[in-house]
Amino acid sequence: MPMEINHKCLEKVGTVLSIAGSDPSGGAGIQADLKTFVSIGVYGAAAITCLTAQNTLGVSTYLPVDPSFVRKQVELVLQDLNVTHIKIGMTGTEEIIKVIGDLLTGFDGEVVCDPVITASDGHALLEQESVICLCDHIINRTTVLTPNLAELRMITGGSCADSDEAVQAGISLFDEFKSLRAVVIKGGHLEEKRETVTDYLLVMDDKSEKIISKTAVHKRVRTKNTHGTGCTFASAFAAFHMLKGGYEQAFFNAVNFVDSLLNKSASLKFGEGCGPLAHGHITSS
Ligand code: PLP
Repeated sequence: MPMEINHKCLEKVGTVLSIAGSDPSGGAGIQADLKTFVSIGVYGAAAITCLTAQNTLGVSTYLPVDPSFVRKQVELVLQDLNVTHIKIGMTGTEEIIKVIGDLLTGFDGEVVCDPVITASDGHALLEQESVICLCDHIINRTTVLTPNLAELRMITGGSCADSDEAVQAGISLFDEFKSLRAVVIKGGHLEEKRETVTDYLLVMDDKSEKIISKTAVHKRVRTKNTHGTGCTFASAFAAFHMLKGGYEQAFFNAVNFVDSLLNKSASLKFGEGCGPLAHGHITSS
């Protein structure tokens, strides 16, 4: 006879909640986020902000979810599950941004924000004039920000022409957004001719109030299968932070996680365009 378990005595399992858009081709958005959580071994929940219509050839269009329904999804998950980390991806509209910002006000866990503005094919996933709203309502309630180079330029207004300028722009974010504890600058689009990629972690050291910088250098993988890399990185950062604690641990683990997925996916074809990362895919030999 199986032992009876007293449900009341059990502790709730820690959960990462992704608040993001849906990508029916499975490469980015909540689909990528949930695959990442499963691969790393944490429990993931997902509240959908927008439905996109896309495949590997690009984004065709998107339909924002009613902001009150975004609120309902997130509220019910937060009321019941033990959400310790929230990962934010595509928001889509200013109304949705404001609802998410409002929900974050009472949340005291980690908020990892991948500030999704443009899809890799250039399709706008948030209008450029709404970036200020994203900053005012979400980024100023974020603990970890993971912009790529284009997003860093749009948020800071800097040119970020080389890695020194990009790091300076990253450092300036700590003055502007007081909730930030860490910023990751993903170096994939920096100095693209180099055979190596350098990613930067900037962490606010609470004792000295100084910013500590760490770098991860890895071999550049020349592939067009990069769809969903930003989503995967931010989700992996949240998941590893939950499992291991500490921004440094989360950073190096997330860099390695994405790097090994890029290597594994480079030889696979999923569609006619820019393919996804092959989370969980087992290559038959
Ligand atoms: N979220 C959704 C729903 C998307 O469709 C996309 C890109 O198409 C992204 C996020 C951003 O993807 P990436 O991780 O490649 O920056």
